[in-house]
Amino acid sequence: MGSAIDAGRPRSYARVAVLGVGLLGGSFALAARRRGLAHEVVGYAKSPSTLNAALAAGVIDQGADSALRAVTGADLVVLAVPVAATAPLLKQIALGLRPDCLLIDVGSTKADVAISAQEALGRCAHQFVPCHPIAGGELSGVQHARADLFEARRVVVTPLDDTPSERITEACALWERLGANVSRMTPPEHDAAFAAVSHLPHLLAFAYVQALTRQPKGGGYLQLAGPGFRDFTRIAASDAVMWRDVFQANGAEVLQQLQLFKQALAAFEAQMRQGNWTQLEALIRDASGSRQAWSAPSPADDTD
Ligand code: NAP
Repeated sequence: MGSAIDAGRPRSYARVAVLGVGLLGGSFALAARRRGLAHEVVGYAKSPSTLNAALAAGVIDQGADSALRAVTGADLVVLAVPVAATAPLLKQIALGLRPDCLLIDVGSTKADVAISAQEALGRCAHQFVPCHPIAGGELSGVQHARADLFEARRVVVTPLDDTPSERITEACALWERLGANVSRMTPPEHDAAFAAVSHLPHLLAFAYVQALTRQPKGGGYLQLAGPGFRDFTRIAASDAVMWRDVFQANGAEVLQQLQLFKQALAAFEAQMRQGNWTQLEALIRDASGSRQAWSAPSPADDTD
């Protein structure tokens, strides 16, 4: 578990560049404006249609036709793209960053982002504070952006080895101003923990839905599914590119968690095959007690 942080007072930003104007980036833009943190928000996305939608919805003030143009003159830059797009974008913007500009991201994996940042940003790496808001949902895209997405959510900040303390404090103050609770971890600690509580459950949900729908009568079974199916599989509706990138970036940790899961599943299967119903009940009782003792830090309709 990360340590809590004293965030200090946040500054305001005259020009905020949001690279990736989807669920997270769009929500950041809306939240920053609602909280009076941003005077002007410039957006950049892969496709012009996304920028047009963001402009039409009033999420951004301006669209830029390159990442470099978006960050030029910005005093805050927020990267909110699938994690594999982070390194190329950092390379594109490195030469355009103002020396006083704070650079943050919102990616779901952190060790890969830390390495990319050191390589791509060089002397500007001290301006970058990697962050992961534990907020979002299975519906991606700017049309689902919400100004209150980060309120009462955890944001994990994972500074690089040589990130100056004033940059960390500034990033924490920024998230707190958006209503989030900030904690700090190292990138490897973050990736190990989130492989266990987020990345593996997504992998299992995707695989389970595929196993169901690929069987000959799966479509019919799906028609009968109720709340248990809904709760277990909500995250299986998540974005394919985002999750491909997460599994690629954090593969070693996710595969390690998958091994532990397979061991647990094998134990359940063995009790069933052997007809050891008392032992099966003990396994279920153990899991049920752990789940009942857990209290959700946030409403159950969120993901990640
Ligand atoms: P999203 O809604 O799909 O938005 C992604 C945005 O990135 C889109 O605007 C997309 O543009 C843009 N983009 C993609 N590739 C790009 C590239 N090469 N260059 C420039 N822009 C590019 O995704 P999201 O859910 O906001 O996720 C964004 C990040 O937040 C990911 O790193 C994810 O791991 C992290 N995160 C997500 C959640 C969650 O629950 N969704 C929670 C915490 C963290 P187009 O629309 O033009 O393709």
